[in-house]
Amino acid sequence: MSPKKYTSLHHIQSDLSLGKTSCVDLADYYLNQNEAHKHLNAMLEVFTDEVRAQASVVDRKLKNGTAGKLAGMFLAIKDNICYTGHTVSASSKILGNYEAVFTATALQRLLDEDVIVIGRCNCDEFAMGASNENSAYGAVRNAADSTKVPGGSSGGSAVAVQADLCLAALGSDTGGSIRQPASFTGTIGIKPTYGRISRNGLLAYASSFDQIGPVTGSIEDAALLTQLMAGVDENDATSSSVSVTAYQPDANQKYKIAYSKEAMENEGLANDVKGAYQDLLEKLKADGHTIEERSFPYLEYMVPCYYVLTTAEASSNLSRYSGMLYGQRSEKATDIESTFKKSRSEGFGVEVKRRIMTGTFVLSADEYDAYYAKAQKVRRVIKQESEKILETYDFFLCPTAPTTAFDIGGDMSKDPIKMYLADIFTVQAPLAGLPAISVPTAESDGLSIGMHFMGRAFAENELFNIGSIVSSYYEK
Ligand code: GLN
Repeated sequence: MSPKKYTSLHHIQSDLSLGKTSCVDLADYYLNQNEAHKHLNAMLEVFTDEVRAQASVVDRKLKNGTAGKLAGMFLAIKDNICYTGHTVSASSKILGNYEAVFTATALQRLLDEDVIVIGRCNCDEFAMGASNENSAYGAVRNAADSTKVPGGSSGGSAVAVQADLCLAALGSDTGGSIRQPASFTGTIGIKPTYGRISRNGLLAYASSFDQIGPVTGSIEDAALLTQLMAGVDENDATSSSVSVTAYQPDANQKYKIAYSKEAMENEGLANDVKGAYQDLLEKLKADGHTIEERSFPYLEYMVPCYYVLTTAEASSNLSRYSGMLYGQRSEKATDIESTFKKSRSEGFGVEVKRRIMTGTFVLSADEYDAYYAKAQKVRRVIKQESEKILETYDFFLCPTAPTTAFDIGGDMSKDPIKMYLADIFTVQAPLAGLPAISVPTAESDGLSIGMHFMGRAFAENELFNIGSIVSSYYEK
């Protein structure tokens, strides 16, 4: 892959101010990149004309001194984030060419700072998946090896950054959908604290887990985008009013970090990932951080708990796609009931149907106590125990994913349980509502490996700081 033109906004803005480039030049560059990498299937749509027009507007603002903080940033958005007048399909046939009637709060806050939206990214249908193979519009390919998956569900967002189709992208994370693709593509991905960023305008998968977050090539861009999107929103009652502060790097800060005994001993952990994990622990120790092993004996309960709760929430959230109000209606429908049945049967893909059925089952009167109510209790234990670790330690560290990017259409794709287990290390943070970041640290056979830090609620800036410290160990 050719080297990236820019990996951070800071460099773009310094070249803009020196007159070495312009937004119009950058628009041409990114649009050409998109043309040249169509085979990756990362983008469902590129807003070519708009991008050029917006670039001229921002160039003019730069000249007049009225440009916002994100002038020069070209951003791709996951296809589950609403942008007025643009299609938003959640990579599902059921939404088809549905056009957003308002803009997500998080995105609006970036538009207000002159970000330019380059297009919308492919993803797993309704953000359900870990490989981006569940899209109704085809799998996304990893730019490092096009026979491999990019991870999911925000696979298109991650590849868009990996292949330099844009500077940064927005994804959403329910159980790992920003962090795991970041790990598979050598990019940085953060899932903010639950409530940090408004979910208004994010198509819902599991509302008590979902968060929007950035995928970027640099920590500083991740921090800036998070900061600008964060903060209370009257349109999302779960958004938090905890104050938002700017990230101030502190390279000399020494942290107390717990690493996961169960992750280290996990039989699914690939040798190359384990090696990278041990290598990072040693580097952190050598740098003066306190590193201690900590047991978290709930690892095996997390994936089942996550799938009971998220399928339950999904079955409820996706009931609105009935062929009546939004998107596609079956042409074979003859009455109300057949409209519901046929539109949903034709519109949803296999994985989404599997989850709707599982979720409906765990919520059914006979099974509710055994599954949904039990999983809620397990979630509370996971949250309390995770918070307990973070009373003593600044971070809980484990690999982001047990393996590197796997084959498109391979064993994983044929076995949903195997695929669900790919989320083993990423579901803890959203179960506990805590923030977590994935930072690339190693490569194996040309495929990247990410490490995962989970931190205290609303301590995103600490995650950026450790991310920056860790990145400095691996700079080439
Ligand atoms: N792989 C997980 C799932 O399929 C995570 C998805 C997500 O975070 N949106 O549910």
